[in-house]
Amino acid sequence: MNKILEYQRIEGELINIDKKISQSNSMKVINQANDIANNAKSEMKELDKKAGELVSSFNKLQDIMQKNIQNIQNLEKQKVEVADKQQLRKLYDNIKTVNNNLNIIEQRLNDINKNIDWVLKKFQKIKGNVSNSKDKKIKAQQDLEEYKKSFDDKKVKLQAQLDSLKKEIPQNVFKLYQKVREENIYPAFVEANQEGDVIRCGGCKTQIPVAGINKLKNDGYIECERCRRIIFINQDK
Ligand SMILES: [Zn+2]
Repeated sequence: MNKILEYQRIEGELINIDKKISQSNSMKVINQANDIANNAKSEMKELDKKAGELVSSFNKLQDIMQKNIQNIQNLEKQKVEVADKQQLRKLYDNIKTVNNNLNIIEQRLNDINKNIDWVLKKFQKIKGNVSNSKDKKIKAQQDLEEYKKSFDDKKVKLQAQLDSLKKEIPQNVFKLYQKVREENIYPAFVEANQEGDVIRCGGCKTQIPVAGINKLKNDGYIECERCRRIIFINQDK
């Protein structure tokens, strides 16, 4: 049992090294850069949609403008008897309507202009952010490689220790260990916590039923029904 626990301890050191690497500042910068790139993608998609809407609004306004220009031309062609007050009134109303329409069109064109400005600025800003974070990411990737390398010697040494220890561990015990580790559970072997008659899993603290306690005492170990770890009794105690 001592050998497999030693094996577990050394594997824990290797796991800690991987954890240090994955929680390193460089890794954070890389992840942030990936997030920024992903967000930029969806923001660009939104901007593209907005730009499309602006173009279609602009085209619609152009149609309306054409119609109003047509109206003006029609009005110009009309021959109106100055004496005919009713006709004059009608002409005046028509001119007023066309004028109003042109004012509205001008206002809308201003709005579209402002929106186009906004889209362009936003587009530039996103482009800047992405390019900035890309530079940071490249630097972080280099730093991360350096950081990983700094553990290489240590990792080779620990792996060699594991390889030689493995030869001293009974196959059935090692298989038990491997089975739990394959589920990415660490530690795989935990000591039973004994308090009077109550025995609990050293991993998840679940109380072991009476039938389990008998098996634990007979075989020296039992699989936890809850967290799947191998619970053992420390014989040295
Ligand atoms: Zn458990």
